[in-house]
Amino acid sequence: MANNEESRGLKSLLDWFANRRKSGSTILERQEREIADGLWHKCSNCGVLTYTKDLRANQMVCVECGHHNRVDSDERIRQLIDANSWRAMDEQLRPTDPLQFRDRKAYSDRLREMQDKLDLVDAVKTGLGQIDGLPIALGVMDFRFMGGSMGSVVGEKLTRLIEQATQRRYPVVIVCTSGGARMQEGMLSLMQMAKISGALQRHREERLLYIPVLTNPTTGGVTASFAMLGDIILAEPKATIGFAGRRVIEQTLREKLPEDFQSAEDLLKHGFVDDIVPRTQLKKTLAQLIALHQPPAPTTTHNMVVWETRSLSSTVAE
Ligand SMILES: [Zn+2]
Repeated sequence: MANNEESRGLKSLLDWFANRRKSGSTILERQEREIADGLWHKCSNCGVLTYTKDLRANQMVCVECGHHNRVDSDERIRQLIDANSWRAMDEQLRPTDPLQFRDRKAYSDRLREMQDKLDLVDAVKTGLGQIDGLPIALGVMDFRFMGGSMGSVVGEKLTRLIEQATQRRYPVVIVCTSGGARMQEGMLSLMQMAKISGALQRHREERLLYIPVLTNPTTGGVTASFAMLGDIILAEPKATIGFAGRRVIEQTLREKLPEDFQSAEDLLKHGFVDDIVPRTQLKKTLAQLIALHQPPAPTTTHNMVVWETRSLSSTVAE
């Protein structure tokens, strides 16, 4: 009798554990499903789960550890530009494949796939808008499109943006994120470094303000040109900023590099960056800097010239 009761007790205990395990796994499955559905977001730094809605409200910065998750160009424009003030520029510029480049895949196929998947034509969005009521010319790179690589379209759009800003006497802000020059366009992508730098020089001669914002990661030809030419250079916390990759440098030097090498914090320490601004403070900081640097009177009359759309390069199609 006692044995029977004991075995019944044991059985119900085992059932209880089995049920618990079962319901536990359902919760886990549900969580995984919700993460997959995009309802939840798991922080890649601290592992804490946050409602995507809450994360978005905090500009994609983890509320637990402050990790700055990557944001796409549309989201970034929403974060920085006053509502209803954005006027996109040169949306018709599309990349071509002048070298008929092919690696594992044809460059033209790669472009088409990206364009279909992301609803982007290339790796940058440019336009005019207002930031706390002040006019600016803004360029935002998008890492999702071929690693934010700089080809002819990125170069041409940024150049036109800067030229437009020079004529209107607007400050320029470029939110950078890039793996570097786009190798599928060879020399044509490297040319863009000089072209954008030239446009920035003319903007600078008019004593106008340019602020690059370096976000994770900013590397290669972008670092070697417009990302480092700012009057004031801002960076997001913990962003990787460099020219060549860490592994390449370690192999060349044959020594181990320090943990914080190529971090925004290390660059600030060495004077390459002027300030590190958390994303939640970025709009306010930019607006303050722009208000403090209101442009002086023009030195020439060329801001009177009507700006006209023109193609500076035969490597992009309109
Ligand atoms: Zn976190």
